[in-house]
Amino acid sequence: MNKGLLFVVSAPAGCGKDTILEQVLAKTENVGYSVSATTRAPRPGEVDGVHYHFHTRESFEQMIKDGAVLEYTEYIGNYYGTPRKAVEDMLAQGKDVILKIEVEGAMNIKKLFPECCLVFILPPSMAELERRLRKRGTEDEETILRRTAQARNEIGTAVNYDYFVVNDALEEAVDDLIAVIRAEKCRKARCMEMLEKIKGE
Ligand code: 5GP
Repeated sequence: MNKGLLFVVSAPAGCGKDTILEQVLAKTENVGYSVSATTRAPRPGEVDGVHYHFHTRESFEQMIKDGAVLEYTEYIGNYYGTPRKAVEDMLAQGKDVILKIEVEGAMNIKKLFPECCLVFILPPSMAELERRLRKRGTEDEETILRRTAQARNEIGTAVNYDYFVVNDALEEAVDDLIAVIRAEKCRKARCMEMLEKIKGE
């Protein structure tokens, strides 16, 4: 059985990555999602083990010591990390795996898994991103400006990624990400074993 492929998806806040990924996972077979570990508090509606594995700082630091995370980062005062075993098990079972992580983690994963595929979700424009951040209506002006500035920094690193998906119309963004996954699976370098098998028949 072939090993699965690893996809890393990053996007600044307000780009709709959670919704895109939910729909991509619902519409694809054999694609798994890596549930990250974090020390941030659950938001309303978030379920332990589904959206994140919620940890105390102590237990997260123990995981780091034990080598139980593939990568981790501290983001706005909280730890976030990718549990090693779940990802390795899914890949070994031939499942493709999506990691939804920020840009620093993405670069660390690329070093560990040079063959992984990095996808960056972009807003249609900075003005639209700012409009979406304001529409949430839950944050004050200072927070919105801070988030917009952070988004700008993150977008500055997008050049290191393999694919861009623009989230203008949600359905198109979902289709684009599914197309990226399918195209990556057809890449020659990933299919050489199959070619040899066919040739040997
Ligand atoms: P949020 O708190 O909004 O759920 O996530 C904040 C940021 O942390 C997002 O950019 C999210 O993609 C990123 N993130 C979530 N899990 C991980 C992880 O396991 N590793 C890294 N490096 N970033 C993560």
